[in-house]
Amino acid sequence: MPLPPNDLMYLEKMLVKLLNTPSPTGFTFRAIEAVEQMLAEFPELECSRTRKGALVANWPGRASNAPRALTAHVDTLGAMVKEIKSNGRLKLTRIGGFAWNTVEGEGCTVYTSQGETVRGAILLVKASGHVHGSQVNELKREDDNMEVRLDARSSSADETRALGIEVGDFVVFDPRVEVTNGFIRSRHLDDKACVACLLAAVKTLHDAGLQPAQTTTLLISNYEEVGHGAAAGFPPDLVELVTVDMAAVGEGQASDEFHASLCVKDSGGPYHYELNQRLRALAEANKIPYKVDVYPYYGSDGEALWRAGGNVAVALIGPGVDASHNYERTHMDALAATTNWIIAYLSS
Ligand SMILES: [Zn+2]
Repeated sequence: MPLPPNDLMYLEKMLVKLLNTPSPTGFTFRAIEAVEQMLAEFPELECSRTRKGALVANWPGRASNAPRALTAHVDTLGAMVKEIKSNGRLKLTRIGGFAWNTVEGEGCTVYTSQGETVRGAILLVKASGHVHGSQVNELKREDDNMEVRLDARSSSADETRALGIEVGDFVVFDPRVEVTNGFIRSRHLDDKACVACLLAAVKTLHDAGLQPAQTTTLLISNYEEVGHGAAAGFPPDLVELVTVDMAAVGEGQASDEFHASLCVKDSGGPYHYELNQRLRALAEANKIPYKVDVYPYYGSDGEALWRAGGNVAVALIGPGVDASHNYERTHMDALAATTNWIIAYLSS
């Protein structure tokens, strides 16, 4: 039976909405709420929150003898105020794994604990070429050499504190979302692209009046970028988990922006062979454009569950994302392929 057609307009709309919702790890409640509202359109799914703050949707299937789960994460890279400097600027600590040069010059928003926002930009401490000459090029991009210049009058720590800013406030990088010729260019496609694919798969089955083959849990995780997102939150009788996260595109990689990828091995080792074989067979049978790949510097939420003692089969699929943990880009073709793969898996 052919797959029901998926709604790419819906996918793109939800994705852009999520990309514009700030959610660095530890500060994800807005994005979790947004996904909860999106899923509320589909009354067959029953949503709840874990104590850790993840969103869990239970989706009754035609059978429930081998319960399954899919997971994707809404948390993203970001930063936190580490120190208010004597010049009124902010020293940051990173949330998640990224290099400072990937956000140098980026606009950002500081979220104060009182609910205010202050705009600014992430800059090198010796930013001006007219003042510092070759040091602009030579200075190492590390915590001590990066700062936030606030768009507010402040040249002392006291003046910055008067804005309501304190140590521990979250700093969100501008995603700069742009959609052109089917390409989506934005920060944080990792992993909001895959959350949007999950939503689109739910909508497709819903619109077609179909149920998943097995009772399925969707876990929208909120601590992936720091390594323990999906370590908890699944039902105890879970049999298998398909993690949906971006594929690493670049020199030497099989993945690209127009295919979905099956990751057979990453830094955490190989995934589950039999589940991989089933996913390959589903892609072949449904003519889903896919690649098989190995990601050299990568860990997933599926491995977080394994490390936490999860006794389930785990696999990893997802769309190719160029320049990951940087100014990322993917294409609707990869998102459509990923969505169709999810639909094929759910239906099988
Ligand atoms: Zn990710």
